[in-house]
Amino acid sequence: MNITDQREQVYRMALRLYGAGLIRLSAGNVSLRGDDGLIAITPSGLWYEKMQPDDIVIIDPNGAVVDAKPGHKPSSEWALHTAILAALPQVNAVIHTHSIYALVFASLVKEIPAISIELIPAGGNIPVAPYAPAGTPEVGRGAAAVFQSRPGLKGLLLQNHGLVTIGETLDRAFEYALDIETAAQAYHLALQVGQPVTLTAEQIDDFHRYHG
Ligand SMILES: [Zn+2]
Repeated sequence: MNITDQREQVYRMALRLYGAGLIRLSAGNVSLRGDDGLIAITPSGLWYEKMQPDDIVIIDPNGAVVDAKPGHKPSSEWALHTAILAALPQVNAVIHTHSIYALVFASLVKEIPAISIELIPAGGNIPVAPYAPAGTPEVGRGAAAVFQSRPGLKGLLLQNHGLVTIGETLDRAFEYALDIETAAQAYHLALQVGQPVTLTAEQIDDFHRYHG
């Protein structure tokens, strides 16, 4: 994968997230690490609907800009991406959204329980990483620590902020972002009419047994 492919993949994923309603205006961001360790990331402050592949910024693992159009900066939340990628060598893709139902539970500081099979591939219950100001390295460090403490976990909520998902590929990270947002919406709706039942650890194990 060369830098042009990397930019193209991040650009296409940003449009896909925008099309799915998971990101709006310039909120939310996408990154992809290449074989050489360089990271392609969405730019700061540019509306997704106006974005082109060459707007994607290339940074090194410390966040220094390696290649960008004049005047372009990496997403203001680049440190969230670099901290997660540094802590998790098997992860190459990070997606961060401010999707609505994820925000509901991020603001309630309430984990999303595994009430539907949708959440099982993403790791079951989706926890909330502690609050830290957006754009600071602490956000990334807090999220990375939660991912490291739960090896099968593919997504988490950032308190009062949004959702982060990870994957070996961008497609995987996208699936987790969509699955978690869907499960959060279902949980929210279920709470309106009763007390949703959470899958047991045994039921989750069974799911893995039959679905690999
Ligand atoms: Zn954010």
